[in-house]
Amino acid sequence: MRIRSQIILSMVSAAALIGLVGGVAIFTQMTATKYLGLTEATNVARELADTIVFKPSDGTPSLLDRPEALTQFLEQQHRRARRDFIVVDRNKLIVAHAADEEHKAGDKFNHDPGNEVGQTLADGFPRKFVDPNEVNAILAVPIEQGEDNIVGAVLLEYDPVVNAAEQRTNGLLWLVGLSTAAAMLVAAGFAWMLLSRFGSGLKDMMRGMQALAQGDAMTRIGHARRDEFGQLAEGFNTMADQLASARAHIEDIVETVAEGIVVLDGDGRIVSANPAATTMIGRRADKIVGLQWDAAVKLHDAKGGDFTGGTSPIEIALATGRQHQGEVRLARLDGSQTPVIASCSPLSRSEGGLVLTLNDISELRRAEGIVNERADQLAILNRELHEKSETTTRLVKLGELLQACVTFPEAFSVVGTAMTEFLGGLSGSVHLTSASRNLVEEMAHWGDVRSSITQFAPEDCWALRRGQEHVAGPGMLTPRCAHITENGKKGYVCMPLAAQGETLGILHLCEPNAAEKPQWLAERQQILRGVVDTLALALANLRLRETLRQQSIRDPNTGLFNRRYLEETSSRELRRMERSGQPLTIIMLDVDHFKQFNDTFGHEAGDLVLKQVAATLIEHARDSDVVSRYGGEEFALVMPGCSLEEGAERAETLRQAIKNLHLAHRGRTLGTVTASFGVAAYPEHGSGWAELTNAADHAQYDAKAEGRDRVVVARNTPPGERPAIQLVPSKKSGAPT
Ligand code: GH3
Ligand code: MG
Ligand code: MG
Repeated sequence: MRIRSQIILSMVSAAALIGLVGGVAIFTQMTATKYLGLTEATNVARELADTIVFKPSDGTPSLLDRPEALTQFLEQQHRRARRDFIVVDRNKLIVAHAADEEHKAGDKFNHDPGNEVGQTLADGFPRKFVDPNEVNAILAVPIEQGEDNIVGAVLLEYDPVVNAAEQRTNGLLWLVGLSTAAAMLVAAGFAWMLLSRFGSGLKDMMRGMQALAQGDAMTRIGHARRDEFGQLAEGFNTMADQLASARAHIEDIVETVAEGIVVLDGDGRIVSANPAATTMIGRRADKIVGLQWDAAVKLHDAKGGDFTGGTSPIEIALATGRQHQGEVRLARLDGSQTPVIASCSPLSRSEGGLVLTLNDISELRRAEGIVNERADQLAILNRELHEKSETTTRLVKLGELLQACVTFPEAFSVVGTAMTEFLGGLSGSVHLTSASRNLVEEMAHWGDVRSSITQFAPEDCWALRRGQEHVAGPGMLTPRCAHITENGKKGYVCMPLAAQGETLGILHLCEPNAAEKPQWLAERQQILRGVVDTLALALANLRLRETLRQQSIRDPNTGLFNRRYLEETSSRELRRMERSGQPLTIIMLDVDHFKQFNDTFGHEAGDLVLKQVAATLIEHARDSDVVSRYGGEEFALVMPGCSLEEGAERAETLRQAIKNLHLAHRGRTLGTVTASFGVAAYPEHGSGWAELTNAADHAQYDAKAEGRDRVVVARNTPPGERPAIQLVPSKKSGAPT
């Protein structure tokens, strides 16, 4: 119910209540007055009845018995009390009366329409009734003479009392009615006045509220009044000020924030969009407000694909009413896409609708890209470092292994095994240049493919010719080396093994699928260089070591083993023969009259003779024989497995071969050279090296003594009788005894 109606109703109700209370009070008063009037009339009648039947003690009859006196008495009462009195006897016959109306004594009283007088005469109870002729209220009270002896009744009019009361009451009722009417009028006036005051205040308030509700935070209510409406208006204006300020603050934030903010209503229509959002979308705010969201905001998934079946964050949030966010790509009108985080937050206090926040993360993605690129570069560097470190470790290991090798075969065995691992399955070989430098020979090979012949001349390899790496393969213009057996489909490289200023040979590698793997060499370049350097250095060291060794065990002039080596080897060989039960023969020979030869032809020619003798000895020696230069022009041959007899024969053969040498130096014929031979053997001439050399030496002395150019076999002495050093010359003998 509106306040206006409430006020009117309240006023009218208050006035009506006042009237009702007044009426009820008056009615109560009237009822009490009527009751009092009746009581008073009853008392008067009873008193009258008692007086009428009273018989004085002097014997005077009662007034009832004296009708005239009774009439006078009644008239007297009538004058005093201004009311009518009638007395009837027991038969309702009028005995006397004092009334304004016409009654006759002796008539039957018949103005009681319900025979109320008759009933009172019968039962003795007072009754009232209205005389229909006079329209008066009459009370009938019995006249009792003695107990239960009703002799008549007094009828008296009691209206005057009641009427007076009623008249007063009616007057009051009028007063109350008028007062109520006046009160209602006054109330209506007050109501009108209040309403007019309330109405304008309320109207102002209502207008302000409606304007505020429609979003006009600048609305204000004039508050010139000093009443509560004035205070309310002031409060309203303060509230509107704060609201406007808060709204301006929020608008300021929304306008300046870097995130794009788009507000959608419950149907998915765009309600507003801040400048950041319109920049991201690429359309003006007034062009998109009111549009369905998908007509303006084109979303793709994080990889740029389309969202299918309502799976975009906005659709999910609109469908579920729950917050949803995810990375998406926002497409502009020009087709470019921006990576954004789209946050959709349903508006709980509005009717549906949501706030879409767009957070541009393109800078983040760009930075991520750079970081990833750097990480990749770092990973590559790390891998390269790791590979380098692994390569270095392997090279160091290879170097160590090669350093530990004492001979070339050992070294090449290591190379063959290591290269397969080092060079990732590539086939290849190591070729070394011979000491004569006219031949290049394969020393080691690995892998399934053979792409080079095993022996070739140094000029057959471009790497050896030019002293630098030579690569050839399909699509390359470089010439192919003559030692290569494969056709042009395979790629190969020859790398010179050079160390300490000397080229030792080449490292050769072959890739059968060079056309399909153009990077086969580039990706191994680094390790190859390391391998080549390590290998060259190791081989150079090995060669140096071998040279030194040879120098330490060989005679530089003749190339034969020296005496020290002979003694070392021969002692070992003697033990071996002992173990295996085989013989061993030693031949010692000395060039005859060599001093004389030197003196005649010169020392150089003497050297040449020594070389020729040595070559002859080597020529006639077996692989197992050890040929050595024992002293100046003295030689020794140790022949394991050779018996004394066989040894003597071979000594003879040698003697003849030396004798048959045709020697010339600088165009001069040097003449014949002869030598004297001493032969001793195990077990015939002892089991120790000293014993055997001693025996051979002595036999050789014997040969000198006997005239030179001959072979003498040492004397066969039983082991027990054999002296440590035999000084006695042997008898001349060409064969063992
Ligand atoms: P005989 O028949 O008794 O063995 O007489 P011989 O002259 O051969 O023996 P002798 O011991 O008297 O002389 C050995 C000579 O050998 C002395 C030395 O000059 C010479 N001789 C030793 N070593 C060499 C060498 O390396 N080259 C040259 N040219 N002569 C050498
Ligand atoms: Mg000599
Ligand atoms: Mg000599």
